[in-house]
Amino acid sequence: MIQGLATRHLGLDLGATNLKWAVVAQASGSWTTVATDQVPTRVVADPAAVPDTVVAQLAEVAAAAIAECGPALTIGIGVPGLYDPATGTTRFLVNLPGNWAGQPVAGPVSAAVGLPTFLVNDARAFGLAELRLGAGRGASSMVGLTLGTGVGGVFAIDGRVHEGHDGTAGEIGHHTIDPDGPWCHCGNRGCLEAYARADQIAAACGTATAEEAVRAAQAGDERARAGLADVGRYLGIGIANMITVISPDRIVVGGGVAAAGELLFAPIRAEIARRVRTTSIEDVALVRAELGTWAGAIGAAVHAAERAAT
Ligand SMILES: [Zn+2]
Repeated sequence: MIQGLATRHLGLDLGATNLKWAVVAQASGSWTTVATDQVPTRVVADPAAVPDTVVAQLAEVAAAAIAECGPALTIGIGVPGLYDPATGTTRFLVNLPGNWAGQPVAGPVSAAVGLPTFLVNDARAFGLAELRLGAGRGASSMVGLTLGTGVGGVFAIDGRVHEGHDGTAGEIGHHTIDPDGPWCHCGNRGCLEAYARADQIAAACGTATAEEAVRAAQAGDERARAGLADVGRYLGIGIANMITVISPDRIVVGGGVAAAGELLFAPIRAEIARRVRTTSIEDVALVRAELGTWAGAIGAAVHAAERAAT
C-alpha cells in the first residue's frame, strides 16, 4: 500500500485573526491533505507581549494537531511578512501587533514539539500549495497572486518556488505599476497592491468591502463592474510584466475577489493581450486557485517537507 509509505507533515498559517493548520501526506512525490482546522489567534492587550504569546500558541497548536492526526516529520510555519530563513526569526509582520524584529519563531516551536521547523512567507506558501496540490499542478513556471487585505505574490520556476537569497522573492504586490501612483503601505508609491488590495477594490466599486463589490458586480451593478474592470486592468499590467520577465505557463489567482471570475479575469486577459509582446500568450493559462483558505497552511507543510529533504 502506498499509504503505508506516506510521510506526514504539519503546516501552520499565522494570520492576525486565525491560526490555521493542515496535515499533509506525501507518498511517491504526490501530496494529499489529511486534515485542516483553525483556532482564533490569541489576543493580548499589551502589544509587547503579542510575539511571545503567539509563538507559544503556535507550539501548542502544533502539539495538539499532532496529537490528533498522528506523528509528523516536519513543521512549516507561514508568516504574514518578512523573515530570516537561516535563523527562523521574523523581521516584520503585517497586521500583527508588537515588535517582531528578530523574534525567534521556528526555534521555540521546534524545541517544544521536537521536530525540524521552518518558516515561509504566507504568499509563497499559498503558491507552493497550488503548485503541488492545486491549480498549478504540472506547471513548468507559475506566477501566483492572492488578493486579500494586501496582494500576496509568488513565482515558481521549473517547478520550484523562487524565494531569493532572503525569502522575499515574489513580492509582486510591491512592484511599481505607476511611478506617480498612490502611496502603498510599504512606503513606495504606485505599487500593484495600492490598486488591488481589498479596501481599494471596495473603494473602486463603491462598496463597503471587496466581498460586497464582487456580489454587487455579479448582480449587475454598473459601478461595481466598472470598478472590477479598473482593478483588473492594473492586475493585468502587473501580470503582463511578470509574463514578460518569467514566461510562465500558468497564472494562478486566489483570494476572495477571485470569486468574481470573468468580471475580473476578462479585463486581466485584455491587458495581458495588450502588453505582452515577447511570448505567446495562448500558452499562458490564467486560472483560479483551487485550495481556498487552507492553501497557506498546506503550503507551509509542503515547504517544510521539501526543505528537510534537501
Ligand atoms: Zn508596496
